[in-house]
Amino acid sequence: MTKAFQTLKGMRDVLPPESARRRALVDRFASAGTLAGYGEVVVPLVEELGVFERVGEATDVVTKEMYDFTDRDGTQIALRPEVTAGVVRAFVQHRPLVPWKVWYSGTNFRHERPQKGRYRMFDQVGVEVLGVDDPDVDAEVIALAVAFFAELGLRRVRLLINSLGDHGDRERYTEAVRAHLEARRAELSEAARDTLGRNPLRVLDSKRAEDAEAVRTAPVVADFLSDDAAGHYQRVLAGLDALGIEYEEAPRLVRGLDYYRRTTFEFVADALDAAQNAVGGGGRYDGLAEDLGGPPTDGIGFALGVDRLLLTCDAEGVFDAPQHTLDAFVVDLVGGDAARDLTHLLRANGFAADRRFGGGSMKAQMKAADRSAARVAIIVGEDEVAACEVTLRPLRDDGSSQRRVARSALVDELRAFLQ
Ligand code: AMP
Repeated sequence: MTKAFQTLKGMRDVLPPESARRRALVDRFASAGTLAGYGEVVVPLVEELGVFERVGEATDVVTKEMYDFTDRDGTQIALRPEVTAGVVRAFVQHRPLVPWKVWYSGTNFRHERPQKGRYRMFDQVGVEVLGVDDPDVDAEVIALAVAFFAELGLRRVRLLINSLGDHGDRERYTEAVRAHLEARRAELSEAARDTLGRNPLRVLDSKRAEDAEAVRTAPVVADFLSDDAAGHYQRVLAGLDALGIEYEEAPRLVRGLDYYRRTTFEFVADALDAAQNAVGGGGRYDGLAEDLGGPPTDGIGFALGVDRLLLTCDAEGVFDAPQHTLDAFVVDLVGGDAARDLTHLLRANGFAADRRFGGGSMKAQMKAADRSAARVAIIVGEDEVAACEVTLRPLRDDGSSQRRVARSALVDELRAFLQ
């Protein structure tokens, strides 16, 4: 027997009507971004491996989860595990005027252990702002995400925020955390001991019981902030207060990617299971442009997981799939020419119209019309053909009754009916 192929592990098909919901979510995000002065940026799904390696040499996303391979011409490339690196690479390549405010939507790949809300191929929407160090832009970016959650109808998404300080602050802090954890090495989980050598801050993300005590007593970055970084952070918090945005300061929020500086934040959905409840996160990455061969440039952005946002919407019972209904369904009882021609005519005039193929009885065709949720059936039988007319039969119980109209007047009559 011929093999029936299935999707790869951790990858999913998205079919209607769920696909319509996903599309609607991205469209909402696009209009929110556009209204705030962000233009769409589209960057490749694959980049030279180095683009991502620069970004997080010591992160799992880059060291363990990347889909990297050698191209047929010998170039080392990778499917993108996130979008920011590509956007900053594009910034360095094209040198657009700053401030450069962009939004994106698209697919990423990470070779993770799949589970609900964690896939090997997943979508994100996000924004990036390059060339602005004003803390008010941090508040703007966060406000954009928060307003987006509200627009989806979500009520139980919390904002966690922290500052990682500047490069030097972060280094001093990392060393303090390393020393703290090294002193407790014996009690740590094996995974934490392994991570400790490469990236001590990552250990603070550990959810393992053995690591809990060491994590709880670890130094907090707030004690290592320079005056500049502390001032920046206070201005961001003041901005959030002014905009009425609730937040929780999370002194141990460090996030996975190495390039984060200063403001860092995460959005947590209380409606999801704790293991997979991060619906998005972001922060400043001052220095990333330089790491990718460009001029020193401040940057900030966030990425939201589309799949997890939709799961959150399910859990909160909001943002249903949009109901796509038809205006008209053509029912042709005399050979199919009318179905072909009228459906085409209606579509050409801007109506949402459909038909059944292969003809069939009145009953079968009306059933298809009902299932399509069209507002009206356009029926063509022997009588109608003889009189150059069609019957317009309302399919919803709105009190209007069926009537015959001249075929030449169909477009106008239908328009009037649908008003
Ligand atoms: P990150 O780029 O790791 O900061 O992720 C940003 C957001 O993308 C997370 O908060 C998740 O909502 C989502 N995300 C990350 N990895 C996955 C994954 N493997 N599957 C589904 N969503 C993910």
